[in-house]
Amino acid sequence: MADVQITFPDGAEKTFSVDTTPLEIAKSISTSLAKKAVSGKLNGEYVGMHDAIKESGDFELITKDDEEALQLLRHSVSHLLAQALNRLYPDQIHYGVGPFISNGFYYDTDKVEGNQISVEQFPEIEKMMKRIVKENLPIVSREITRDEALDMFKNDPYKIELINDLPADEHISIAVQGEHVELDRGGLVPSTGWIKHFKLTSVAGAYWRGKSSNPMLQRIYGTAFWNADELDAEMKRRAEAKERDHRKIGADQDLFFTSQEVGSGLAVWMPNGAAIRRTLERYIVDREVQDGYQHVYTPVLSNLNLYKQSGHWDHYRDDMFPPMDMGDGEFLELRPMNCPSHIMVYKHQQRSYRDLPFRVAELGMMHRYEKSGALTGLSRVREMTLNDGHTFVMLDQIEDEFKKILQLMVDVYKDFDITDYRFRLSYRDPKNTEKYFDDDDMWEKAQRMLKGAMDDMGLAYFEAEGEAAFYGPKLDVQIKTALGGEETLSTIQLDFLLPERFDVTYVGSDGELHRPVMIHRGIISTMERFTAYLTEMYKGAFPTWLAPHQVRIIPVNREAHGEFAQQLTDRLVKQGIRAEYDGRNEKLGYLIRNAQSLKIPYTLVIGDEEVSNDTVTIRRFGSRDTNVKSVDQFEKDLLADIANHSRA
Ligand code: ATP
Ligand code: ZN
Repeated sequence: MADVQITFPDGAEKTFSVDTTPLEIAKSISTSLAKKAVSGKLNGEYVGMHDAIKESGDFELITKDDEEALQLLRHSVSHLLAQALNRLYPDQIHYGVGPFISNGFYYDTDKVEGNQISVEQFPEIEKMMKRIVKENLPIVSREITRDEALDMFKNDPYKIELINDLPADEHISIAVQGEHVELDRGGLVPSTGWIKHFKLTSVAGAYWRGKSSNPMLQRIYGTAFWNADELDAEMKRRAEAKERDHRKIGADQDLFFTSQEVGSGLAVWMPNGAAIRRTLERYIVDREVQDGYQHVYTPVLSNLNLYKQSGHWDHYRDDMFPPMDMGDGEFLELRPMNCPSHIMVYKHQQRSYRDLPFRVAELGMMHRYEKSGALTGLSRVREMTLNDGHTFVMLDQIEDEFKKILQLMVDVYKDFDITDYRFRLSYRDPKNTEKYFDDDDMWEKAQRMLKGAMDDMGLAYFEAEGEAAFYGPKLDVQIKTALGGEETLSTIQLDFLLPERFDVTYVGSDGELHRPVMIHRGIISTMERFTAYLTEMYKGAFPTWLAPHQVRIIPVNREAHGEFAQQLTDRLVKQGIRAEYDGRNEKLGYLIRNAQSLKIPYTLVIGDEEVSNDTVTIRRFGSRDTNVKSVDQFEKDLLADIANHSRA
């Protein structure tokens, strides 16, 4: 019999007879290794524990201790799910693909009868999955011919499509467990008995292969771990994430909604959400004006030529709404970015070195045709308003301006108690410099300068090569979302290119025309994403200055105390405080609980004592205790709390 030469990661070599399995190799080393080995890997390709090794090469065993083993487990659970579905609903389901993903796995299915699988069926499906686990079916892979594959999956139109799309010389392999067969490249646990701690979590619509012209399938999501504690912890984390999801809080507190009727990704801000947004907008505009920005209003629609000149039309068209043909030769475009508009502001007059740095800012509404699958509440929408700003500077002003913007950013974050963020310096990819604006000297200088400025200011950061924009290096602020993802909140980007494209100039002290550098910056991102972020960060308990309702005033008895309560409300409202009188005909306890469930910072209860002493009994959100203050003192303290911009 022929032999294969196996080279282990430590360099040791050993000869085995051909068709030996990873399990046999593991056993030849130690029984404990054989017990925890999940899969073999030969020359970088998975070989299942029971599969035959046909060639020599570099070999390693993946054990439960390896991080990637979790991916194999989750991939295997997706097969287990399909097998269970097949047993429960034979011949009623078509199958798409079932990969592992970062936090679990999914399987795309299409129920032939038209009945959808719903979360109500999960317990039944999980029960069947557990039964198959008990059967401890070995999972084995093998190669088959294209004709065999086409025959084997003839009742599965999606699988047939996948097979037909494989290149002619591609090997086709299947994974078999008991009666169940998957079209699969491997990377699976040795048997169904290895799968113990798993959970189906949700089901959502997903277009076949992500294309909206394809049929909509049902994507069943789940997750799995090696031990029960980890699974429990993950399920708890998810429940908590759901609780703080801005879409849930947005509905509970009536902040905003999106609907098909209005159009996908087009948010309607209800009065409560609008109160938050108005506060944010006033705050940031005032802050920027203090920092020397000139705020402008420019049109959301512009002549398409503007975006041809900027390069957006060539490079960004997929994200833009289609142009409007006005029928008279003019094409109008909903802008995807505000930069060209601000360049028009700059270029409206000839600027000189004395005008620089020239800072233009705007709460600029823009439209981007985001993929429908990516739309998420307020955090990813198709119409958004960006806290945008562009400063035009001379080369030797970049560093100071960069620091000034950074300082603004840090100050603003303090006002919102944002502490969980990371600075990312994004450079061009040194191995791929031709992908970027062509001026090596400029790049080197600019990147060194940004780094130097961060060091000067004593700010911690990490560096990311290849993350720069095409037109220049940048600094991004990365924050975590409730769902565990990372998003960019603020950004400062140097741009050498747009000034060229639009022939932007200033008259230098030498009387000659020079090219300024443009800095794009956003401090609090779009009103949409920032509101989503704050909602999740505060878990809906907004600090007083941002809270849609700041004070709710409840009379113990409407007849006796209603008038006092109403007058107090009017007095506070006149001070610009968002106070409201709750004179609904309900039990006092109910009204207090209702105010607390809406996370209103202050609930005031007015009874006999309060009316005769001109006082209020105050309950702060989240506190069981109450305290009593004179109306004057309460008003003074409340105004101070609002001015303080911070969680008390
Ligand atoms: P992303 O990578 O999130 O798509 P981007 O890199 O395209 O964003 P920029 O063009 O720099 O983003 O836009 C500025 C900011 O606007 C982003 O940092 C982000 O906070 C916000 N933003 C971008 N797209 C959306 C959207 N679809 N909905 C809400 N906010 C958005
Ligand atoms: Zn810009």
